[in-house]
Amino acid sequence: MGKSALFNRLIEEEKAIVSDVLGTTRDRTEGYCLWRGEQIKVVDTGGLDIGEKDILEKEVIAQAQYAIENADLIIFLVDLKTGLLPQEISIAKKLNAWREKIILAGNKADGAKIRAATHDPQWRKLGFGEPLPVSAVTGIGVGDLLDVIFERLKILHSPPPPTGGSKGEEVKKSSPPLMERVRRERATEETPFRVAIVGRPNVGKSLLLNSILGEKRVIVSPVAHTTREPQDMELVFQNKKILLIDTAGIRQKNKIAAVSVEKKGIERSLKVVNRADLVFFVLEPAERFEHQDREIASALSHTQASVVLVINKWDTVQNNQMSQEQIASSVSYQMPQLAFAPIVFISALTGLHVKKLLPLVLKIIEERKKKISDHELKELLPKLILRHKPSRGKGSHHPVIRAIEQSGINPPQFTVWIGRKQSLHFSYVRFLENRLRERFGFDATPIRIWVRQEKR
Ligand code: GDP
Repeated sequence: MGKSALFNRLIEEEKAIVSDVLGTTRDRTEGYCLWRGEQIKVVDTGGLDIGEKDILEKEVIAQAQYAIENADLIIFLVDLKTGLLPQEISIAKKLNAWREKIILAGNKADGAKIRAATHDPQWRKLGFGEPLPVSAVTGIGVGDLLDVIFERLKILHSPPPPTGGSKGEEVKKSSPPLMERVRRERATEETPFRVAIVGRPNVGKSLLLNSILGEKRVIVSPVAHTTREPQDMELVFQNKKILLIDTAGIRQKNKIAAVSVEKKGIERSLKVVNRADLVFFVLEPAERFEHQDREIASALSHTQASVVLVINKWDTVQNNQMSQEQIASSVSYQMPQLAFAPIVFISALTGLHVKKLLPLVLKIIEERKKKISDHELKELLPKLILRHKPSRGKGSHHPVIRAIEQSGINPPQFTVWIGRKQSLHFSYVRFLENRLRERFGFDATPIRIWVRQEKR
């Protein structure tokens, strides 16, 4: 059938990164696939097309069942060469309950003739539409399959739009999306932390990159990386792996036609931020930031990335010309979405304070992983309520906060439980966020707060 071949094809690039670290990736049935900057967890079920007598086989089936129930999407792989098999019809029946999750793929689509077999009416018997042609061996169609997976996951897990209230006045119940769950799992593995340097053209990104790479304490890994993301570069700093993403993009800017440099630079920045755990957002010292700076700030506030505002070219600022406090207040006024981001003042040219950046990365890695115990939150809750009584969003019921729990890390997420048919005003959610930061830190890191109504 080619299931394992497809599995290997999906995770191969990622495996190349982790295998030298873990050393034992050969027989695993789970892996991660990196696509368009997102990590997708792939599980090889071991197959459903087997008899049920043998105990061992039963075990395999139980595992497959578990995987199916817990998966967000299921790739049902058929063989375009052999055509539909009777047992596939019975598997399709068993899977009918999860039909929403299924993507039908047809393997061995190496040539045009076999690809045409995807239009064969026989596949309709499965009830999942036409198979998407792929070839696990040559890789043909795998990118298209990943695109379909990616789009479906995006729809499946995009945060629900604010409903009911006007202009998003209230925050409704919702649950952490898959991408975040995957990230959380990934955080426990020895994978590099992804750092991006972004900013509009000429702010000094390229010089900063060189300045960081030029540091004696930094080891640039000689390992060639994933062919899917050839722009990245891995560093080791104090035994931690740090992946600087899109470094090639920073260096290649001169190749882009002069007229479109500005636009391309921004587009690239906006794309890159979605792949990063941490963004060094480079700015020039100014009391008024440019439109493009604000555009990047806004894009950043919609990601899960931690952010450090790097005010570069500090060497050009004369005494008394501009103070750090003035810049900090410009930031809070013009980029209020990034209020959580610390500001560092550096000069990529002279090296001033550049040494502070990598230790800051290590600190932020820890901040993102911080987990606050239920006990601590339970103690904090009455104090918060005493300080500021919960205000309601839309709806007639006054909200009662029953509990707060930390429902995720990397980035930190909290779930606030309120009573049935209640809602919480967004300003109160902000109040909670500020108090959580005040108490527990979470420097440079966005915090997600999910408000959920108790079932009973
Ligand atoms: P990029 O487009 O953001 O990658 O910017 P570059 O790194 O190419 O820098 C743009 C210009 O700013 C170059 O002429 C750099 O020499 C200059 N530059 C970058 N950083 C500094 C700095 O810290 N101080 C000064 N004085 N000039 C800088």
